[in-house]
Amino acid sequence: MRPTWLEIDLGALGRNYRRLARRAAGARVIAVVKANAYGHGAAAVARALLGCGAERLAVATSGEGAGLRRAGIDAPVLLLGSLHPDDAEDAARWGLTPTLATLEAARAYAAARPGGGVQVKVDSGMGRVGVPPGELAGFVAAVEELGLEVEAVYTHFAVADEDEVETRRQLAVFLETARALPRRYPLHAANSAAILAGLGTELDFVRPGVALYGLPPDMRTAQGLEPVLAWKARPTQVKRLPAGHGVGYGLSYRSQGEEWIATLPFGYADGFPRALSNRGWVRWRGGYAPVAGRVSMDQTTVRLPEPVGLDEVFWVATPDLDERTSLTGRARALNTIHYELATALSPRLPRVYREEE
Ligand SMILES: *Cc1c(COP(=O)(O)O)cnc(C)c1O
Repeated sequence: MRPTWLEIDLGALGRNYRRLARRAAGARVIAVVKANAYGHGAAAVARALLGCGAERLAVATSGEGAGLRRAGIDAPVLLLGSLHPDDAEDAARWGLTPTLATLEAARAYAAARPGGGVQVKVDSGMGRVGVPPGELAGFVAAVEELGLEVEAVYTHFAVADEDEVETRRQLAVFLETARALPRRYPLHAANSAAILAGLGTELDFVRPGVALYGLPPDMRTAQGLEPVLAWKARPTQVKRLPAGHGVGYGLSYRSQGEEWIATLPFGYADGFPRALSNRGWVRWRGGYAPVAGRVSMDQTTVRLPEPVGLDEVFWVATPDLDERTSLTGRARALNTIHYELATALSPRLPRVYREEE
């Protein structure tokens, strides 16, 4: 096996699932497994979440949906985002439930799958995807006129993690718009942050993503969630460098005195950001080893105070909120969000799943 791998704790995943489900006790769960289940591996994660009681799955692309189907998963799969007419045939072929927000897509899907089930999205304030509230009733009528079955109507929050007042306002716009429809459709709105804040949890479905993976939406506190993923690596070479020796592309690091450098077998192509060149850390024997030199595509060099064998294990990403080595802490240091670092974890990294005891 490749000497760098992800360890994924399906027990922790299941406990996070149950924590979120308890906060939305009357709602059914659409577990969001887009982007390879936020880097955790879509098929294994989807199977585990369905085993925990999730009723449906959601993905971002028809290719992701096809991957679930090829893995033998036959649960309902919601395709998030406004369907493009060019994607209607693939959505139909793989039995995915598309999200409709345009008439062009509705017509294309009705042609690809006559009588098929769809969901309709309303833009309650985010300004990205969805039918304007004032046009919802007409749009739903037009979709049904095409013979399609509207299974649910939903919306998405823009600031569920930071602004409760605005999120309540979006929720009110959504509910008022839905209430004006001639009949009652199943409704949903809540992502992870909203579920944890108790907003939209009284509706028919909830759509947790990031929190299932133990990545707290607020990026600061654990919010009662358990981390699911650790990234580990063994060195492929450990060498002693004399003082003043350059390391890596651009020779951007030079050894201060006599130093030990371990070459680790992962790089930016695996999802370890190149921006961590000369400023990132990995965890090692309870302490840290600093990245020395540039992160390259497939390899990263770290500085050690002493030599180690090739069986030594380094923690590339720790399952905690450590400022230097967790996905969450590292994202904050890089001015981004843990979503970006998790979804960047390359499919070429082996994933090792620990089952629930
Ligand atoms: C990604 C996504 C979710 C899940 O969001 P999290 O913040 O990861 O919980 C829910 N709904 C929609 C429409 C999404 O695109």
